Amino acid sequence: MEFRNFIGGEWRETAAASANINPSDISDVIGYAAESDAAEIDHAVGAAKAAAVSWSASTPQQRFDVLDFIGSELLARKDELGRLLAREEGKTLAEGIAETARAGQIFKFFAGEALRGGGEAMASVRPGVGVEITRSPVGVVGLITPWNFPMAIPAWKTAPALAYGNAVVLKPAELTPGCAHALAEIIARSGLPDGVFNLVLGKGKVTGARLVEHRDTDAISFTGSAETGSEIAATCGRLRKKLQMEMGGKNPMVVLDDADLDLAVEACLNGAFYSTGQRCTASSRLIVAGGIHDRFVASLTGRIAALRVGNALDRATEIGPVVDGRQLDKDLIYLDIAAKEGGQVFGGQTLQRTTNGFFLAPALITETNSGMRINQEEVFGPIASVIRVEDYEEALQVANDTPFGLSAGICTGSLKHATHFKANAEAGMVMVNLPTAGVDYHVPFGGTKGSSFGGREQGAHAKEFYSKIKTSYTFA
Ligand code: NAD
Repeated sequence: MEFRNFIGGEWRETAAASANINPSDISDVIGYAAESDAAEIDHAVGAAKAAAVSWSASTPQQRFDVLDFIGSELLARKDELGRLLAREEGKTLAEGIAETARAGQIFKFFAGEALRGGGEAMASVRPGVGVEITRSPVGVVGLITPWNFPMAIPAWKTAPALAYGNAVVLKPAELTPGCAHALAEIIARSGLPDGVFNLVLGKGKVTGARLVEHRDTDAISFTGSAETGSEIAATCGRLRKKLQMEMGGKNPMVVLDDADLDLAVEACLNGAFYSTGQRCTASSRLIVAGGIHDRFVASLTGRIAALRVGNALDRATEIGPVVDGRQLDKDLIYLDIAAKEGGQVFGGQTLQRTTNGFFLAPALITETNSGMRINQEEVFGPIASVIRVEDYEEALQVANDTPFGLSAGICTGSLKHATHFKANAEAGMVMVNLPTAGVDYHVPFGGTKGSSFGGREQGAHAKEFYSKIKTSYTFA
């Protein structure tokens, strides 16, 4: 299988290609992906610019029809594409299918948003004057996405971009070109005019960087690591380019003495380890009150030991492989750092499988404190640490002791503590008696502090980034 660029309505022939490997089975080459150069980005941005004016003038019905078609296709083909996703990224088959369905629902949601638009009209404070607040597209939007949600994140950027009338160049992650290519194939058949959506595959430092600095991209939406985000923000700041970024997390899950133990263990198991812990919203810090700590750790380690780690395509698998060898090395380095800093590591050994995939047993690190590197830096693997605290007040202080602010959770039977936590946790999303990961597709997604910048994604709030506002006054 060849994964190619899609520019101006055409699938491009590309000379250089890099192999795309199944992380569950390194002998399985899924395909070869184009490795584009900066000139290919220039070509894609040119195609988007040429198409942007006519798409900005498209009717709400035209936009609805395109987005609704893409959503329907993704939903109808969720099993097949979910399998590709599991094979390419390593999350389980069930997770791959659910993510593909979610991508479809996102397109359906924004089909509805395309009909609603978002303008307002009101009377002026001056007699006889009317005021209209209208929204128009930003223009050409560059979308740069990570590998860990290879179907959903391109969907939650592309769908609002098109719904609000923009032209798009999508630069997906190097590790997951197949999912982006499958999405582009569907978009190619959706009736969208040529050039409105363009796909360019390639390395971040070449194609991604070129997309960011190109004078004809009017805005950039990026999801990925904080390090890359800082580089992109520096360029956009210099060029005064509109920018939205979603980056890492070090999400706390507080478990108070009055929590339902089984519910708390289930929420932490799911939040910390599902999708192999490779979620920006993963519960990587479990902040547990002294009265429940020992029972919680005993129960959670029992559940972790029973998790079935294996080939993502095997229906019995609960935890798939880590995405690649580099990420596996990073996970092992952090386990070592945590042990050297005094943490007790349960699990965390590499697992031999006949398929030679990148398998790591889920790990829980106890006896940690908030200042340790394992509690301050994002690892992005099936690894969680436990911090013992005295009471709710200390739990909240530890929960907020992080440069990140994406998602935060609390397990408690106390309405008073839940209410206080919702108001005072420094995070863009707060969960009560639910895992920190796992969000709806129709409401805003995003964080505060070092996790996010430039406005929310998903839900109707996405229009703030993907459109610009004009206020017109008329005296008649
Ligand atoms: P990454 O930053 O390495 O890469 C993300 C994208 O940026 C890729 O497409 C990459 O090619 C591109 N890129 C790399 N260098 C670039 C540059 N200099 N200029 C422009 N583009 C460049 O991230 P990753 O390893 O693919 O993804 C994992 C990270 O994503 C984690 O930190 C995770 O927390 C984060 N993430 C955040 C969210 C969120 O919504 N907050 C969601 C998913 C993942």
